[in-house]
Amino acid sequence: MAKEKIVRCREVGFDCDGIVRAHTEEELLAKVAQHARTVHHLTEITDEVVKKVKSVIREE
Ligand SMILES: [Zn+2]
Repeated sequence: MAKEKIVRCREVGFDCDGIVRAHTEEELLAKVAQHARTVHHLTEITDEVVKKVKSVIREE
């Protein structure tokens, strides 16, 4: 089984226990963007947010 990439929403800076998992970075970023839009009402995923997300990606 391939490792999963994981982002904990809290580490991105939100007060949230959400965890996003995916098998590729592309998929992960898409899921984080969707989560941020639907749960945190973030209308724009800026380069800064993407950079922050990439900096907290873990593999499990
Ligand atoms: Zn969240």
